This record gives sequence, C-alpha cells and structure tokens, in this order.
Amino acid sequence: MKLRKVTAASAAVFALALTATACGGDDSSDNGSSGGGGDKIKIGIKYDQPGLGLKTPDGYTGFDVDVATYVAKELGYEPDQIEWVETKSADRENALSRGDVKFIAATYSITDERKEKVDFAGPYLLAHQDLLVKKGADISEATDLNDKKLCSVTGSTSAQNVKKDFAPDAQLREYGTYSECIAGLQSGAVDALTTDDSILAGFAAQDQYKGKFELVGLKLSNENYGIGVKKGDTETVNKINDALEKMVSDKSWDKAVEENFGPAEYKNEPAPQIGNIVK
Ligand code: GLU
Repeated sequence: MKLRKVTAASAAVFALALTATACGGDDSSDNGSSGGGGDKIKIGIKYDQPGLGLKTPDGYTGFDVDVATYVAKELGYEPDQIEWVETKSADRENALSRGDVKFIAATYSITDERKEKVDFAGPYLLAHQDLLVKKGADISEATDLNDKKLCSVTGSTSAQNVKKDFAPDAQLREYGTYSECIAGLQSGAVDALTTDDSILAGFAAQDQYKGKFELVGLKLSNENYGIGVKKGDTETVNKINDALEKMVSDKSWDKAVEENFGPAEYKNEPAPQIGNIVK
C-alpha cells in the first residue's frame, strides 16, 4: 500500500515535470519572441531592489518594472501577459543566451564586455556608483576603504570597478544580491556596500533602515542602464528603442521617475538619448 502511494506520487511528479518541460522548454517562442500578440512575455528583473525592481506580496514595483511594463505594451503585451523572472546580476547574460526571458530590465549597465554576449537597447537611465555606510562611519572617499570590508554583488560592474579601479586594497565580499549586502552592513559583517546610487538610495529609504545608513555621495562611475536582449535580436532592440523614446516623449518616463525615486529622494540624471553612452 505504502509502496503504491509512493509510486503514484512519483508518477504525478513525473507528469508535472513533463508538463513543465512542455511549456517551459528551450523553444524560444515561449519567451514571447513572436514579437507581440503571443500569450505571455517573460521579462527579467531584480526582485530585491526597492525603487527599481522589487517583488512584494502585492506584486512587482520599481522603475525597471515600470519601464519594462511600458516596453512590453509597445511590443503588444498587456500587463497581465507579463511573466516576471528574477535575474540576479550574475545570471543576466546566461538568461538571455538561453532564451529564458525576452528581455531584461534589471539595473543592467551597458558595457563593452557584456556586449560581446548580449545586445542592449537604451540607455534609459544614467546612475553612478556610490557607497552606503552606517551613519557617522569614517568613510568619506574611496581611499578610506583600504583594509575595510566592502560588500558588492557577483557579476556586477560595481564589484569589478572596486577590484580594478578605486579600491583594490579593500576586502571585497561578493554576495549574490544587494539585499544580502545590506543585511551584512546592518549586522556589521561588512563596513560598506557599493553599487549604483539609484539602488543604494532605495535601500536607505526603507522604513527599517531609515536614519541608519547614508550614501557617501561619490560618483565613482557612469552606469548606463540598458535593456538586455539576446545577441543578434536586432528587431527587438529597435522596437524597444522606439518604445523608450516614446516613454520619454509622452512623459511616462518622468512619471515613473517621480513615483519610484521620489520616496527615496534620489536625484536622478535627465533621460538619456538612445545610443548615447556616457563613458
Ligand atoms: N548597474 C550595475 C551592473 O549592471 C550594478 C547593479 C547590478 O548589479 O545590477 O552591474
């Protein structure tokens, strides 16, 4: 009897797995590559970055989510046809190459290195790398980081810039997500967190962190946020660029900025021109 139950359960799991394979297989038409009118579109975002890409019990919020939703609409997909997929910093290129998602809007900086593996539409935002420290900490410039424990995320430009540019002598701790870094900053496991000011401002404004952390206010790099697509998918890049231009000209971009960055008092740069990368 017991054995039979197990067998039935395994059969059910197997059947489920088969179904999952059938709907989520490697056929790239599944991510919405028909370019519109399909049932669903899969879009990669961050799940843990307040103000940019955040999964909440009530749904998904943030500037990247709003940009992605606008773009999806221009590609022919209503919000209820969007399937959000978490794409952590280190997973983005692979998610696109494998066809897991149609595009990625996840604080994804356009870089020459990444352009060897994926294509980008945009940019749609210019941010700058900065530091987040505990209020009153003795860190006011990058050289103060020498021998300090500095947290950033694997696969990010932030971690790369630390190593090759401004703080090679810091003890870099690379975590999987920025929310893990902020937990480390709170517990004292690390002395500072470095990434884009847009992301840091969003964390600092969270109720549980209010008054505890401060941005140092350094513009350590230029981070030109692009929308990542699979390498060679020029048609989608062009369509997304048209959508981004429209989002700026009809003021939806300003509205998204105000709604998402307003609460964090993040002073963003003006909307970039498509194709204009600030080095
Ligand atoms: N914008 C930077 C990057 O693309 C840092 C933020 C992130 O990790 O998403 O790497």
